[in-house]
Amino acid sequence: MGCCMCGGNTLSQTINYEERRAGKLYSFIEVPALVCESCGDITFSAKTMKRMDEVIKERKKPDKYEQVPVFSMAA
Ligand SMILES: [Zn+2]
Repeated sequence: MGCCMCGGNTLSQTINYEERRAGKLYSFIEVPALVCESCGDITFSAKTMKRMDEVIKERKKPDKYEQVPVFSMAA
C-alpha cells in the first residue's frame, strides 16, 4: 500500500502516538501503523482508530500515567 500523501513506500510499524482532545492529552503506545519511508506520514487502520476512539470515549483506565513537562514560550 502506497502513501496517500506522496505515493511512497509504507512500512508496518509500531509507534507511539499522542492526541489532544478537548484540552486533554492522550498518549497511546505500541500502536500499529503504516509509516511512509519518504515523508514520514502515519496512517492508522480504521480498526486502530476505532480502538483509540473507544479508549477516549469510554474513559478506560490507563495502563500507566506519565508526567508531561509543559513550557510556556510567552515573553
Ligand atoms: Zn509519503
